[in-house]
Amino acid sequence: MSQTDSPRHLVTRFAPSPTGRLHIGHGYSALQAYDLAKESGGTFLLRIEDTDVTRCRPEFTDGIYEDLRWLGLDWDGLMIQSERFAAYEAALDRLKALGVLYPCFCTRGDIARELAASLHAPHGADGPLYPGTCRHLSETERIERIVRGDPHSWRLDMGDALALTGPLIWHDAIAGDMSVERDALGDLILKGRDRPASYHLAVVVDDAAQGVTDVVRGRDVFPSTHAHRTLQALLDLPVPIYRHHALIVDAEGKRLAKRSAGLSLAELRARGVEGRQLADDLRAGRFPVGISLDAP
Ligand code: GLU
Repeated sequence: MSQTDSPRHLVTRFAPSPTGRLHIGHGYSALQAYDLAKESGGTFLLRIEDTDVTRCRPEFTDGIYEDLRWLGLDWDGLMIQSERFAAYEAALDRLKALGVLYPCFCTRGDIARELAASLHAPHGADGPLYPGTCRHLSETERIERIVRGDPHSWRLDMGDALALTGPLIWHDAIAGDMSVERDALGDLILKGRDRPASYHLAVVVDDAAQGVTDVVRGRDVFPSTHAHRTLQALLDLPVPIYRHHALIVDAEGKRLAKRSAGLSLAELRARGVEGRQLADDLRAGRFPVGISLDAP
């Protein structure tokens, strides 16, 4: 076999946030990522996404380890995002130097009022977009307010970013080739007032740092990939292949949340369910009563 024919070494990851106990949907997602790597002798990594310091708790991190092991999943490497704030700050500095970030002084209330007052508030995949209030501030005003100590976040100016990168494509193994859309999420926050790095910034930096070749995750985060691909282009990072899988839903068709009673892996275990059996069932598409995959 020539070098060009050699199979790719797949690196996948499971990247939960320790804001509650994992439910059966997380288990399904972890299994998808694990199996994709292991079927071809690849690497499966775990990443604890705990940049939201106000909501994440160490006991939930311990719960993640316990639940994955119970399902029979072991990981070949571990990254903890709360140990990596310097890497996110460096990425943020690079983006600032490119001129594609702006400070945003709006509170949630400011944004809600602005959206309520505007007749044609733009909508993205996840609801109304940030109306761009602080994008229009002058440089002098920005500096004055920062120097004054006004609390602020940092937003990515998607228009400026795409003007710099030109049109971008990413590939989803299920949905096919996708063109980056500016308004999927709009000008999203990369650094919050109380959060050293947003999910979007940290996930892009760390998928690259961990050498992830294939990102397997639920299709609830599909729209985020437009922003992730943009950040990869701006930061010169490799672009993984994406595989956004169907979500597990309850009898009403609603996707499971960390607070969905009775469906956490810990509760199932306490009820006497056997972890490896549950993993085999999920792999075979057998779900507990009242639970299914959402329609394609
Ligand atoms: N921490 C994110 C979540 O739990 C991970 C999403 C992703 O896999 O990129 O939704």
